[in-house]
Amino acid sequence: MSSTTYQIPKVQKAAVVPSVGGTLEIRDNHPVKQPSELLPGECLVKLDCTGVCHTDLHAAKNDWPVPAKTPLVGGHEGVGIVVAIGEHTQDSPVKLGDRVGIKWLAYSCLDCEPCRKGLEQVCYHGQYSGFTVDGTFSQYVVSWTSHVTPIPEGLASTEAASILCAGVTVYRAIKYSNTKIGDWIVLPGAGGGLGHLAVQYAAAMGLRVLAIDTGSEKRDLVMKLGAEKWIDFKETKNLVEDIKAATDGFGPHAAVVTAANSEAFEEAIDYLRPGGTLMVVGLPGHGKLAADIFYTVTKSINILGSYVGNRQDAREALDIAARGKAHCVYAVKPLSALQETYEGLAKGTVVGRVVLNMQE
Ligand SMILES: [Zn+2]
Ligand SMILES: [Zn+2]
Repeated sequence: MSSTTYQIPKVQKAAVVPSVGGTLEIRDNHPVKQPSELLPGECLVKLDCTGVCHTDLHAAKNDWPVPAKTPLVGGHEGVGIVVAIGEHTQDSPVKLGDRVGIKWLAYSCLDCEPCRKGLEQVCYHGQYSGFTVDGTFSQYVVSWTSHVTPIPEGLASTEAASILCAGVTVYRAIKYSNTKIGDWIVLPGAGGGLGHLAVQYAAAMGLRVLAIDTGSEKRDLVMKLGAEKWIDFKETKNLVEDIKAATDGFGPHAAVVTAANSEAFEEAIDYLRPGGTLMVVGLPGHGKLAADIFYTVTKSINILGSYVGNRQDAREALDIAARGKAHCVYAVKPLSALQETYEGLAKGTVVGRVVLNMQE
């Protein structure tokens, strides 16, 4: 396989975090790995766009218990075209010209026990885009042919970008929440980046959605997207009682908690219906989950962690979006807006998701 069809520049625009805790730098002379330098199994993707995720902020600040590489090119919600494939690559599932997504899980060995059980996102040898390997805040990115995600036709690249992380994450959490059609699911933070996608996936799965957030703008959004009921957490006097009252008096069958504060997890034990499931999705750097043991036992509550998704989850989440069942609310910005986007994410002022145009 050769790359003769595509002209690959030597340098590119990229957002680089030079050192731990260092200031983000937008460079226009960042090297592009040339097709001749690609290892077997690697491919070079020319990016159309990439989403910005709260995880990128953690990676840039290096405030998680596990450190990111430095210098670091962050980003893990990229969509673009395969423009080169490493020589001697065998059985590549993608070919030159294919439109693919680059997601958080850049590589898994497919052979360790978690991988063999379909839990490749916790592979013992996993590599993560924009964390352990350079990610998508550059015009070209190197990834693995086995793990780039084909993007369905008809789904805009800018739409697919946020589905690759936010969409996959909430989709999988709902899929494994032990719920069935007609069950109640509560979604704290329903009007946020992950939450507004969760509302739509839950509704598409036939679940009854109780959305929790604050403000009339978010209320109107989530009700339009398919929520059946709404609670404004700033207006309620007793959130737990109001949630139970809204869900037949018994509480929801499941809660998908994407918040980063531990209170939101503890409350779920109180309001969940007996036999209910708490899906722990939010990723605070150092939070603790204090579950009341007595009620966890006597209500037979399931507490499950859910972390992004495997390659199959990604395809399913994209497919549902391509069929128009889940739309992302996002704003398109240039790469130079990355720093201000981080500041907005830190303050919680970003509505929906931000997608960066990488080819302008
Ligand atoms: Zn993400
Ligand atoms: Zn593995």
